[in-house]
Amino acid sequence: MPVLVMKFGGTSVATLDRIRRAAKRVGVEVAKGYDVIVIVSAMSGETNKLVGFVEETSPLFDAREYDAVVSSGENVTAGLMALTLQEMDVPARSWQGWQVPVMTTGAHANARIEDIPTDNISAKFGQGMKVAVVAGFQGISPEGRITTLGRGGSDTTAVAFAAAFGAVRCDIYTDVDGVYTTDPRICEKARKLDKIAFEEMLEMASLGAKVLQTRSVELAMRFKVPLRVLSSFEEMDDTAGTLVCDEDEIMESNVVAGVAHSRDEAKMTLVSVADRPGIAAAIFTPLAEAGVNVDMIVQNISEEGRTDMTFSCPTNQVARAEKAMEEAKAKGEINFHGIVADTNVAKVSVVGIGMRSHTGVAAKMFKVLSNDGINIKVITTSEIKISVLIERKYMELAVQALHDAFELDKSA
Ligand code: ADP
Ligand code: ASP
Ligand code: MG
Repeated sequence: MPVLVMKFGGTSVATLDRIRRAAKRVGVEVAKGYDVIVIVSAMSGETNKLVGFVEETSPLFDAREYDAVVSSGENVTAGLMALTLQEMDVPARSWQGWQVPVMTTGAHANARIEDIPTDNISAKFGQGMKVAVVAGFQGISPEGRITTLGRGGSDTTAVAFAAAFGAVRCDIYTDVDGVYTTDPRICEKARKLDKIAFEEMLEMASLGAKVLQTRSVELAMRFKVPLRVLSSFEEMDDTAGTLVCDEDEIMESNVVAGVAHSRDEAKMTLVSVADRPGIAAAIFTPLAEAGVNVDMIVQNISEEGRTDMTFSCPTNQVARAEKAMEEAKAKGEINFHGIVADTNVAKVSVVGIGMRSHTGVAAKMFKVLSNDGINIKVITTSEIKISVLIERKYMELAVQALHDAFELDKSA
């Protein structure tokens, strides 16, 4: 039987009623002749609640115990989904990550999937089971501890299962009816895209468009998994949603495909560090070892052998970053006069493969922001994106202004 993977996000399983609704969709696909692998998230709000418990108990928590706690939300929905399907006379059972087993690295709270053996689930399909319900977001480390895949990780579970089982498609059911030119919650002119190229989706996701976890897009691109994003609240339709696909499947596209934003950014500056060979390594090695995800980096012009080093990281890693820097200073590995943390910034980015061949996008972006009196604190660019760090209170305004200026409400 062909295999189909269907993933339901938090809002799609937020209540028993919604689980029933999702289960009906699964039933429709089973009736078409698919063996279905359903990946579920925790009920919406549940993972945030669990993360809150951990942070309140232990601010610089042991990530192994964090994973033990925050992975639990998915266990509940997996069991409930299997029960709901059984009530509908659809043969189904649930699997937690370790039971499959979803084998991951030992990078707790941010583990990568290394392997998904298919024999257990395939054997059950062979015996007449129609639906395997798998708890998303979780796996097991080489040491046998429970791991999680980073926030939004159920998307990655879904794509990894689709790749492992050679599924015909991976459908991501969520609370919007596809991928938009920007987050429809902050820009009412956002336009739904019928198709988006893997590379653009990859940038959009990594720059904050949380509709898909970045790693899920990476995997889909690598293993050529047809990936569709669609709403679990609208009528079922084979052409619904957005297809994430190869660039050459898209006939025409705008120079800028979308605008992404990331609210929880912090800008940290090490004031007056010695400007010498090896200083960047001396700063960023301990940060990496402490699990700080450094994004943008700027080193100021050196004056009299001293310089300021600025970098950005997620807001909730500021304490970790400060601790790592103070420890490196205490060990004599680095020296600085002070650390300034600005937790009131956000990142806004424009993305588009058309930028490879069009110039002037950066200039236009900077002009649009300056017209609205928005000061740019840090800039980074790559071949297909430009990102700026700005004061957080201007984030929505910047997204809307850029969406207007690049005319993203109109298709090419
Ligand atoms: P789920 O719980 O189903 O995984 P998420 O909340 O993780 O859902 O992702 C869906 C949300 O992503 C949407 O509600 C929307 O606010 C947000 N989002 C951000 N950028 C975009 C975009 N470009 N297109 C669609 N949704 C986006
Ligand atoms: N429940 C997890 C989270 O909220 C994983 C997911 O929903 O994808 O991050
Ligand atoms: Mg999500």
